[in-house]
Order: sequence, then structure tokens, then C-alpha cells
Amino acid sequence: MQQTIRVTVWCEHNQDRYEPVSLVYPHGMHEAIAEGLRQVSDFQVRTVTQHDPECGLDNELISSTDVLIWWSHLDNNDLPDDLADRVCSHVLNRGMGLLVLHSAMFSKPWQKLMGIYPQPPGWGSFRTMPQGERQRLWVITPGHPIVQGIDACIEIPRDEMYGEPLLIPEPDKTLFISWFEGGDVCRSGCIFERGNGKIFLFTPGHETFPIYYQKEIRQVLKNAVRWLAPSGTGAFQPDVPYRDGTPKENLQHRL
Ligand code: ZN
Repeated sequence: MQQTIRVTVWCEHNQDRYEPVSLVYPHGMHEAIAEGLRQVSDFQVRTVTQHDPECGLDNELISSTDVLIWWSHLDNNDLPDDLADRVCSHVLNRGMGLLVLHSAMFSKPWQKLMGIYPQPPGWGSFRTMPQGERQRLWVITPGHPIVQGIDACIEIPRDEMYGEPLLIPEPDKTLFISWFEGGDVCRSGCIFERGNGKIFLFTPGHETFPIYYQKEIRQVLKNAVRWLAPSGTGAFQPDVPYRDGTPKENLQHRL
């Protein structure tokens, strides 16, 4: 029997409370994302928003999350640093998976985990145009678990253009490269490992287009949750002594 994967969908829930985004996502973007995942019997899916106590990131909830999905945009900088650090700590130390969607590329947890010090228009930024272009996400690693069930490419009728250069660290693996009808390209599906945790960046998902209802996008998200779930045993033991039991060097003076 497969073990339940506990998924938390986190959303800032700002623009989707008002038109025009609320017309596309009447129950919020997080509920649309969660709806697709709830079709999987061994996923236990919860939703929280930035309006909840502790921005939806209280210790109990995050400690019982295997995979955290993150959509944010306008309120990225309103997230307190200590809560962003809490998310990073669970990824690095406990191996919680993190799925970063669209403009969450400007969120604090993502930037901290990637070592991005945002200094627009430089590192951490990229070219965007939200008018709505046709996008094709080409699968370039057909054997990877996250792209199973996906054809050669996913076509999204309209999405915000995210264009290269994406000023991000070199991914451990790139799964999708997007083409936009305006001629731009973008690494749209990238995986990273940080500490004990896995991270998947998936760039589609501008709020004014119904992208999280699309069958292929939901398939990628389901695959990603399964791949991101912690699989390790947490073998990292920083207090293991030196040979013959000599205590390891005390590094406090370097902090
Ligand atoms: Zn957008």
C-alpha cells in the first residue's frame, strides 16, 4: 500500500479575490490547484493562504507537510523573513518538497534557497510580458518521472511570457523548455536539490488565464508531488564525532 503524501497548497490569495482573476478562479487559485491533486487517492491535500494565522505557515502544519506548493505574486515581500526561513529549514533539514509556481520565482523562500539576492534588473529577474501568448512547453527529458503521461509538448493557449535569460542558478536538470509565439524561450520546468529537499520550478500559471484547470498541467503537478515527496531517511548527522570519538570542532566562532 502506498504511503499517503501530505500536500499543502499555499497561495497569497490576493488578486484572485477580485475581478478579473476571480472570474477565472472563483474559489481562489489554491483551490483550483488543489482540486486537480485531490483526484489522487493517496494525496492528502490542504490549502492555506497568506491571510491565515502565521501566513498559513504555523509549525504544526508545515511539520506535517511532505510537499509544499507555492503560488505568490504581489505580496511576496510581505512575507516575514522568519516564516520564509521556516519554509527553507523544512526543505533543507527535513526534506520537504517545494513546488514553486510562476511568479513565486520572486518569493522569499525560493530566492533564499537559490541564493538569489534580488537586485532588479539583474540577478533573480527576467523578461516578462503578461499580455497572453501561446506557449509550448517542450519535454526535453522524456524519461523523468515528472513528465510521465505528457506528450512531446504541452500547449497552453495563453500565458504570460517568461523569457530568457532567466537569471537563476543552473538547474540540476531542466525538464521543459518553453517556446512563446513572440519568439521567446524559457527554461520552464527545472529541478534543484538543496540539503535534504527537492525543489521543482514550474513557470506556467499567470493568474488571468485558466491554466491550472488544464489537464496536462494538472498531470505535471501530480507527477511533481510524487517526485518531490521526501524519500530519504535523513542521514545527515552533524554531531557525528571525529574518529575515535574525538568531538568535532566547535564552529560557533564562525557563525
Ligand atoms: Zn504572471
